[in-house]
Amino acid sequence: MSIVTTQPSDGLSRRGLLTAAGAAAVGLGVLPGQAVADEVTAYDAIVIGGGFAGATAARELRARGRRPLILEARDRIGGRTWTDTFQGKRIERGGTWVHWSQPHVWAEMMRYGLPIVEDPGPDRVILSTDAGPRSFPPAEAFGRIGELLNRVFEGSSALFERPFDPLFREAEVRAIDGLSLRGRLDQLRLPPQDEGWINGFTASYAGGTNARGAYTQMAKWWALAGGTNSAWGTATGHYRVEPGTGALVQAILADSGAQVRLRTPVTSVVDNGRQVVVTTRSGERFTAPIAVVALPVNVWKTISFSPALPAAHAAATREGIGVPNGTKIWLHVRGDIGRVYAQPAEGNPIGSLIPFASLGDGQLFVAFSFHDTFDGTDLRQVRDAVQALEPKADVVSIKAQNWSKDEFSLGAAAYMQPGQLTRLHEALQRPSGRVAFATADIALGWNGYIDGAIESGVRAARSLG
Ligand SMILES: Cc1cc2nc3c(=O)[nH]c(=O)nc-3n(C[C@H](O)[C@H](O)[C@H](O)COP(=O)(O)OP(=O)(O)OC[C@H]3O[C@@H](n4cnc5c(N)ncnc54)[C@H](O)[C@@H]3O)c2cc1C
Repeated sequence: MSIVTTQPSDGLSRRGLLTAAGAAAVGLGVLPGQAVADEVTAYDAIVIGGGFAGATAARELRARGRRPLILEARDRIGGRTWTDTFQGKRIERGGTWVHWSQPHVWAEMMRYGLPIVEDPGPDRVILSTDAGPRSFPPAEAFGRIGELLNRVFEGSSALFERPFDPLFREAEVRAIDGLSLRGRLDQLRLPPQDEGWINGFTASYAGGTNARGAYTQMAKWWALAGGTNSAWGTATGHYRVEPGTGALVQAILADSGAQVRLRTPVTSVVDNGRQVVVTTRSGERFTAPIAVVALPVNVWKTISFSPALPAAHAAATREGIGVPNGTKIWLHVRGDIGRVYAQPAEGNPIGSLIPFASLGDGQLFVAFSFHDTFDGTDLRQVRDAVQALEPKADVVSIKAQNWSKDEFSLGAAAYMQPGQLTRLHEALQRPSGRVAFATADIALGWNGYIDGAIESGVRAARSLG
């Protein structure tokens, strides 16, 4: 495909270009190493959002002969992935684990030659019992949890026979898509302790309560992972990108040839039938023949679209797909309490506590919280909640990110609600005029994962021709 160029217009003004060039000169706004275009005609595709979906869409547009401009609201790329440091260790403040059963992200790991690193397993597991939290040997705890989860998701591989085509067995999927995780757990009538050993796990994925989450969402992932609890564990929580997810998204971006404008929140997207006009919070306007909206679904409602969003997109952003109340917390614990893993029952302020690394004077843990009244960014609340599980845990400092309160995500990872898959999923894949939508939240396969962001970015860019 030849390079398509926009006609110079006041939509992409000299002022905007000077802003980009000026920002580059002082080290702001444009990533190091990115070329700064000085001609209006340089932009013939706009990508809004610089997470994995946006970076991948930009690279795909480039491969199809276009020179994309990425408009990113934050002062960094990566979105809901964010490689950072805490207590001298490299940490991930959002998306982390990858696996070879996730074909899109794994292909990128191979393409860019990035190694993985394996997380250490725990040496004891704290679970809820009638008598309060208690420690169990990992083999006993995970053995029982595995048996129970295999029952919950029995039949997933048949239901999602072709999981990247989730409605392949449409009648069967439709029949069960209204079922929540709570409904499924109730069907099994598990003894209270058994339920308490798994309902916190499923509730965490669903955003805090099993009532919120669709059974089909996790059943699809279960099928993608290989259909067993042990396959699930290694596929979704065991291997990290050794140099960090930031290295991977940077590598994709570098191959996109895109110009990147950071600190540029977009407020409106107008498709006038001839071109797309994108306006930023500061009033700058950019035009291109096509645009990819690579924003989280929950953020779409903050943007003014003309024409208005299609009905399915409007419903998705109103209802939300990224889960509410999602906070990821890194904890510095003084002393040595062992490699403790905790997975309390549904309703606990801490959804899970995972050992990460030893420090000179203690240990580093990571925790997830999906509780609606708990503030996971508050050291005192976090210390109290962790000590309720393990009284010896002396939490001295934390670094936390509440993704649901973050205006540029308005939710953590995706988890579909009952009925959303069959009601919205197919329509969300379609472009609307000159605008396509890319995000992990709506991916066919691993939606809610880095893999899904990459899958969605490729498909959205290709859907625009
Ligand atoms: C706590 C947590 C843990 C996770 N763990 C894992 C994991 O272990 N493994 C895994 O594979 N996945 C995990 N995920 C999910 C994964 O991180 C996401 O699914 C994926 O990164 C989403 O990519 P995206 O490009 O679709 O969206 P995003 O990464 O959210 O990118 C969207 C971009 O749009 C930008 N933006 C927002 N509003 C505007 C605006 N108005 N104008 C311009 N730009 C805007 C944002 O700043 C952002 O950069 C996790 C997510 C979270 C939050």
